Amino acid sequence: MNLVLFGPPGAGKGTQAKLLTKKRGLPQLSTGDMLRAAIAAGSELGKRVEGILARGELVSDEIVIGIIAERLDRPDCANGAIFDGFPRTIAQAEALDRLLEGRGLKINVAIELKVNDEILLQRAESRVKEMKAEGKEPRADDTPETLRNRLSVYYKNTAPLIAYYRNQGKLKTVNGMVSIPEVSSSIASVVNEA
Ligand code: AMP
Repeated sequence: MNLVLFGPPGAGKGTQAKLLTKKRGLPQLSTGDMLRAAIAAGSELGKRVEGILARGELVSDEIVIGIIAERLDRPDCANGAIFDGFPRTIAQAEALDRLLEGRGLKINVAIELKVNDEILLQRAESRVKEMKAEGKEPRADDTPETLRNRLSVYYKNTAPLIAYYRNQGKLKTVNGMVSIPEVSSSIASVVNEA
C-alpha cells in the first residue's frame, strides 16, 4: 500500500507517519528528513538546500522528485511506502503517480491532516520552548516568522493537492486537532478502508 500524508507544517505528519510505519511495516519516506540528513552530512545537495529550508521555502521539484525516485528503487519500498511531506506541489504529485505507475504501483490513499493556523503556531512555540528546556537546538525553520512563511507556502503550493486527490477519489481528511492516539486511530480506520 502506498499512502500520502500531507498537511500544514506542524500538523503532526512526521509523528503519525512514524506510528503508521510501526503498525504497517512500511518505510517512511520523508523528504524533509532526507534533506536535513544531507545538510547534516555537509554534502553538495545539503549545501544547495540549506538556505531554502532555513527560509521555509520549497526545494525545487526536480531535486525532491530525484530523491524520491532513487529511494523508491530500494527493495523495502516493494510493498509500498508512507510518503511524508512529499508531494508538496501538483508537479510532484504527477511525478509520483508516474514513478509508481512505472513500477506497477499506485497511491492507494492520500490523507490530509487538518489543523487550524492558530493551533499550528501555538504548537510550534511550545515545541521550541520544550527543545530549549531540554538543551536541544530547535529546528531552524520553527521560528514563528519562518513558520508563517511555511504556512503561506503550504496554502499556495500544497493545498491544491486536496483537489488533486479528491478528483482521483483518494482523498481522506482527518482532524489533526485531537490527541496523538486519537489522530492515529482515525488514520488507521481510513487506511483499513482503503
Ligand atoms: P518537513 O520536514 O516536511 O516539514 O520539510 C522541511 C523543509 O524541507 C520544507 O520547509 C522544505 O523547505 C523542504 N522540503 C521537504 N519536502 C519537500 C518537498 N516535497 N518539496 C519541496 N521542499 C521540501
